[in-house]
Amino acid sequence: MSIFLKDQWRDWAREWGLTHHPEKGWMRRTEWVAGEHEGLLVRAGWGTEENPGLVVLVRFPRVGDVDRLRQALIDDATLDALPGKGGARRKMVIETGPKKTVRLGGVPEFTLTENSLVWRHVFRFSTPKATQLEEWGAALVTAIARTTSRFDGRCEVCTTGAATRYVLVNEVPMMMCATCQQRLSAEGEMAERTYEMSEARHLPGLALGLVAALVGAVAWAAIEAVTNRIFAAAAIGIGALVAWTYKRGAGRVDAAGRVIAAALTIVSVVLGEIMIYAWMVMKARPEIGFNLEAGWYVYLKMWGDSPGSEAITILFALVGAWVAAKALERPRLRARIESGDATSGQSKAA
Ligand SMILES: [Zn+2]
Repeated sequence: MSIFLKDQWRDWAREWGLTHHPEKGWMRRTEWVAGEHEGLLVRAGWGTEENPGLVVLVRFPRVGDVDRLRQALIDDATLDALPGKGGARRKMVIETGPKKTVRLGGVPEFTLTENSLVWRHVFRFSTPKATQLEEWGAALVTAIARTTSRFDGRCEVCTTGAATRYVLVNEVPMMMCATCQQRLSAEGEMAERTYEMSEARHLPGLALGLVAALVGAVAWAAIEAVTNRIFAAAAIGIGALVAWTYKRGAGRVDAAGRVIAAALTIVSVVLGEIMIYAWMVMKARPEIGFNLEAGWYVYLKMWGDSPGSEAITILFALVGAWVAAKALERPRLRARIESGDATSGQSKAA
């Protein structure tokens, strides 16, 4: 009996010869499959909490004319088999250069690059059956292969080395020769070493983080004043803001940085509470004015009178602090390369 959500894609993975990566989530699905199908590379899995939905990636040898491929996919009637008749493909976005992290107007359903197509679809009410998914995946692969070439045993990076079996680079299937794999690892190691040697400027980080904490405290107090409630989301927002500004100032993140950002987040929430009490005092006794000392006094008194409600604010603050610390985890600079074979054993274990 597994405590996790149930695997659903084992049969599909076996049928297509994909590597199957079992479900590890309680609430959110994490199961994913990857491998080669009809000469193209496929990865299917579930999006993150921020970008939920089914995410199917199809990778193909680099094409010269992305616009032509885009038009071919839009015109391809077989893609009407996708949910909503695949209508969103008419708004397919072409992405060049590095990935954008901030996007206005949400994540597009279809994103095309010179060597990949990502189809992301949110299912609001039910999870699609594996057999359906298999059909949609097949439709996508077939439609793409009509316009692009297939992988023919050569490396997709240098186009000369031999790559007969895909590898997973940061969980993305790629056709990469041994030389290119080595170079990628060496570059990653170099980047990590450079990062380690760069200075973690704690003081500038602290200074900027402090500004964010003040802004956060005012926002916390304002939200509470307007809604008469407190929100865990506000604490999470403060944590994210503090972490982001800390990183601006500090450059490199380390353990001390995580502690600083977590502490600033808690300080921000507590200060927000003090501000709201100071504001209440000002409303009741205008002659005192906005006095943080008075706010602090009421805050301490509240701990005596109704410790439960103040404990909840601290609990929320801790959630925000956790978010801040999490956001300041060391970036992963080295690509993780796994052979497609090594993981395929997992699907046979069933
Ligand atoms: Zn190569």
